Amino acid sequence: MGATVVDLRSDTVTRPTPGMRRAIADAEVGDYLMGDDPTARRLEERVAELLGKERALFFPSGIMANQTALAVLGRWATEVIVEAGAHIYNYEDAAPAAWTGLQLRPVPTGDGRLTAEHVRQALRRRGSVYQPVTSVVAMENTHVDSGGTVMSLETTGAIAEVARERGLRVHLDGARLWNASVASGHEPAAFAAHADTVMVSLSKGLGAPVGSLLAGDRATMESASRVRRRMGGGMRQVGILAAAGLYALDHHVERLAEDHANARRLAARVNGVPGLGVTDPESNIVMIHLEAPELEEAKVLGFLEKHGILMRAYGPRRLRAVTHLDVNSEGIERAAAALAEAAERLEERRS
Ligand SMILES: *Cc1c(COP(=O)(O)O)cnc(C)c1O
Repeated sequence: MGATVVDLRSDTVTRPTPGMRRAIADAEVGDYLMGDDPTARRLEERVAELLGKERALFFPSGIMANQTALAVLGRWATEVIVEAGAHIYNYEDAAPAAWTGLQLRPVPTGDGRLTAEHVRQALRRRGSVYQPVTSVVAMENTHVDSGGTVMSLETTGAIAEVARERGLRVHLDGARLWNASVASGHEPAAFAAHADTVMVSLSKGLGAPVGSLLAGDRATMESASRVRRRMGGGMRQVGILAAAGLYALDHHVERLAEDHANARRLAARVNGVPGLGVTDPESNIVMIHLEAPELEEAKVLGFLEKHGILMRAYGPRRLRAVTHLDVNSEGIERAAAALAEAAERLEERRS
């Protein structure tokens, strides 16, 4: 084979670039829990500013940050409204049940696009003796399960307004808020303004090895720092990771537009291949539908792997390809060619 592997399984597969590794090596560090890590502090101040919040806290993972947000925003034994495909509901190993004492209320939308009307419909009757109390609405932008769809600023504001009318708190799972920002042309702070807490990841499209941040007002973040430590997320010389995050914010945000262009390029190539369907990507995730019955997920993935292309099965008869900074347009062309060949060969074998 010879050629390098084109790994489109996720945007978490990136390796730190030489520049990022130098930033890590040069980081000034101290005991973070004692308030002594200057690099972590700089990252937290920078992200708080980018999100227009009073304070941001560094977390080892997005899941810990999301769950901490639910724990501090939600009242014990109440409900959290989420879209039915939400990461919090589907991909966090039932963490709310384990950590928060909250019940999730998943709202099916079909296409992953939560609207204010969906939220209104999901609200429990006020003052009911029988129904649970709703306390939080959690949005996700971009929405990963539907293929990186972008929630518009208008919809974000409308959902927040419904929440405010009912005295609910609002969390935004913005693991890929950077992508939503680049795709929509709106600053991350514009989206964050509609939420009490916002989680952003450094280890997805931004290409840092570890880390997410949770931002909000000072009092909420004070509680969040206690929950984080209770969950085992109290860290020490974490500046070596924060340095990677600062480097990523300097060098890897605007370039997300390239990932989005590569996603569109892949979709355009797949579109028109007999047996395959594709959803128009809005950011860096391409959902490929295996329409011809002989195109079984495992067979297609196996064929691709032999040609040095990695993708992942994602739901029934669906493959997911995620673009990121370790994949260039040439890799995308190789992936598209391999997919077309897979479709042709596997169909031929049947006839
Ligand atoms: C990846 C992801 C998370 C969780 O982040 P981890 O760092 O993997 O724990 C949460 N929400 C969304 C939408 C994600 O894509």
